[in-house]
Amino acid sequence: MNNNDLANLLFPDIDQTIENLEKRFPKRNLPQNALITRFAPSPTGFLHTGSLFTSLIAYKFAKDTNGLFFIRLEDTDTKREIEGSGSDLLKQLKVFKIIPSEGYMGDSEIGQYGPYKQSERASIYRTVIKQLVKDDKAYPCFCSPNDLEFLRAEQEKNKITPGYYGEYAKCRNLTVDEAIDKIKKGYSYVIRFRSSGDHNNKIKVHDLIRGDLELSENDQDIVILKSDGLPTYHFAHVVDDHFMRTNCVTRGEEWLSSLPIHIELFNALGFDLPMYAHLPVIMKLDNGNRRKLSKRKDDEAAVSFFLKDGYPFEALIEYLLTIANSNFEEWKAENKDKPNDEFKLSFEKMSLDGALFDIMKLKFISKELLSRMSKEEITNRALEWAKEYDEKLLDLINRDKNYFMSIMNIEREKENPRKDYEKFSDIFEAIKFFYEDYYLELINNELPFNPFISSEIIKKILEEFVETLDLSLDEQTWFNSLKKLGNKYGFAESNKVYKQNKDKYIGHIGDVAEILRIALTSSKQSPNLYNILQILGRNNVAKRITYVINNKL
Ligand code: GLU
Repeated sequence: MNNNDLANLLFPDIDQTIENLEKRFPKRNLPQNALITRFAPSPTGFLHTGSLFTSLIAYKFAKDTNGLFFIRLEDTDTKREIEGSGSDLLKQLKVFKIIPSEGYMGDSEIGQYGPYKQSERASIYRTVIKQLVKDDKAYPCFCSPNDLEFLRAEQEKNKITPGYYGEYAKCRNLTVDEAIDKIKKGYSYVIRFRSSGDHNNKIKVHDLIRGDLELSENDQDIVILKSDGLPTYHFAHVVDDHFMRTNCVTRGEEWLSSLPIHIELFNALGFDLPMYAHLPVIMKLDNGNRRKLSKRKDDEAAVSFFLKDGYPFEALIEYLLTIANSNFEEWKAENKDKPNDEFKLSFEKMSLDGALFDIMKLKFISKELLSRMSKEEITNRALEWAKEYDEKLLDLINRDKNYFMSIMNIEREKENPRKDYEKFSDIFEAIKFFYEDYYLELINNELPFNPFISSEIIKKILEEFVETLDLSLDEQTWFNSLKKLGNKYGFAESNKVYKQNKDKYIGHIGDVAEILRIALTSSKQSPNLYNILQILGRNNVAKRITYVINNKL
């Protein structure tokens, strides 16, 4: 009996060869510098912020180079799989406009290089492994979990590098006859790769981000096919990225340490090595220590957290681009109105260390972004968001969309727009005073009028303000008339004048405006008063002020 017999016994169903696969999945016909990248999530839960980062980088490099970006679902870990999470991932990527041109699409597949779900690629993996067994580069291993545990304990005791390699790889030395005998007897087995590496040898590798590296050769006889018939990550990565013709593997830096395994597998199979870029991992400061964003501990580890909280998706993308390339921020500041597509990512400018997640920066970016939306856009986006996450805001918008839009338009669409909102979830609280029912709730709280100004004066100012209000005046003329009104009751027309002669005045124009602000909104802080008056209209202004005079002073 020889290795061919062993291979036929292990894979009786396989009549294809590696050559067949090479023909079935030909090299892609793309320009030389075009990058073929992929995102390869496992369906084990929600879209992690780190995964959004990795997918964004892969997507953008493909786009920047007129290449191709596809998605492969790595669903070989059946124990950790969460039903439906694969298609949820795709839906979320779509929200961020990271749309693959090929691959697993959630409920369907597009492309000639599939199947794109690893669980459906068994025959491809088996074809490749059959060849490896024939070439004596892979072998069945019958060691039980107990055997392996025992081996590890022994190695630990004797202070030897743990693992299944060299003399410790018991099954690598079984004869073909012995192996065949065990298979026929029904022993359970995995298939291992027969490594010819030596841990003391160094190999040179190039990482697009990290440059030239020297790593120790792999010497472990790693499992390539598990007892459930599914491949391990290492093997699937090599086979899939070869036959899907990925030429640039972008993945988290946690994979860097297993790169020697992958290199040995590529070489053993005679496949060309793709380029590699091991991306920084997103970290968090926790009591002064840096650690990875954790699914369990950190809300911000789930992309859904940001969507629910009402950050526009572009804010997160822009934020992640600032993490990716330090020069993005500068570019953005100079090119506020250009789409991010025009910024070209570069591997050299990518940071090596895990990037710290900085929510303040995200907020800053988001605020800027929301302030630059047109009134229609912010209205429609807030509406979309509210439909999913905020009933109360939805109700306000639905009462009168134009009214809502006029509120959104306050100091918008100008060179330095107001930056009122960090996220859509800030809108409701900030604008509810525009709506009568909420106004009445607010105004019945204690009002923060300046205690140094008498109720008498406040009342008089409010009364005269309503009597003389003319909303047809332009802002400057209106404001001058307000100054005159204040003056009449002892308020200086500016802070400066007031400061020069404090004894002569009760206060200044700012105090007068504050009285109105409080009467109309219940708060000392509000957007531009003139805009509020215009939006509320004469009747509502009069109604509100009369209410305050009668009930609150
Ligand atoms: N399924 C792997 C992961 O989630 C993919 C790594 C890769 O991109 O190769 O980490």
